[in-house]
Amino acid sequence: MISVKQVSMVLAAAGRSVTILDHITFAIPVKQTVAIVGPSGSGKSTLLGLMAGLDRPTAGSIELDGTDITTMSESRMARFRREKVGYIFQSFHLIPTLTALENVAVPLELSGERHASERAADLLAAVRLSDRMGHYPVQLSGGEQQRVAVARAFACRPPILLADEPTGNLDSATGAQVIDLLLSLHRDHGTTLVLVTHDSTLAASMQRVVSLRDGRLESDSMPSFPGSTVEPAAERSSSNWVLPSSPSSSDFTVEPGP
Ligand code: ADP
Ligand code: MG
Repeated sequence: MISVKQVSMVLAAAGRSVTILDHITFAIPVKQTVAIVGPSGSGKSTLLGLMAGLDRPTAGSIELDGTDITTMSESRMARFRREKVGYIFQSFHLIPTLTALENVAVPLELSGERHASERAADLLAAVRLSDRMGHYPVQLSGGEQQRVAVARAFACRPPILLADEPTGNLDSATGAQVIDLLLSLHRDHGTTLVLVTHDSTLAASMQRVVSLRDGRLESDSMPSFPGSTVEPAAERSSSNWVLPSSPSSSDFTVEPGP
């Protein structure tokens, strides 16, 4: 469950304050798939980044599974984020000096997984990149890089995946593959999926569409919650992506925060 309560983001720019998000309130139950849509500059990326704890709102609170992330220390936040949230960027954001395998292994190593390489290899096999594990990002196509990024985001099996225009830099066929992959994670692992998109077809394949305009919540296709059950507008049947659900080692644990 993601709970966004009265969240505002006001930044100083060129000597005056600019309201980027204005008292946004909504909640996303576990296992929901949500599209965040709205014109460019309406605050979508800012909101998604706040939900991932990448930044802090200037007012309001955000809870992930009942924990307020807006008051957490940086170090606790980093650990909590690894455990709870996978984040996928439009421009992939792989580390250019690391191979595909190493990119996926990084979050596993950080969380103490002893068999990080094996688990990373399993994940890359699941996104059909077994034959690209030793490649550097520059040697991969956009679609391949985004599949590596999805494998990395999902490496620690977070219950929540956030994706900011994950298909924005991909052609439509390649983008559709990435979406199928994300939806398969939702379907097979119950992952909550929140993605920002400009693509109305993609938005319609999510269970819920939240629309922003000028930093305000303009519309929400599922305003009444909890209790309401939503059927996916058009859950794509797809797919044969199967990502490994359990880490390769049985002693994979994430230390609880202080
Ligand atoms: P979207 O993702 O919907 O296109 P963003 O969340 O990226 O919108 O940005 C919303 C608004 O906030 C834009 O007008 C943008 O210029 C502004 N903005 C984003 N980050 C900053 C910042 N660090 N300082 C000042 N303004 C910002
Ligand atoms: Mg954006």
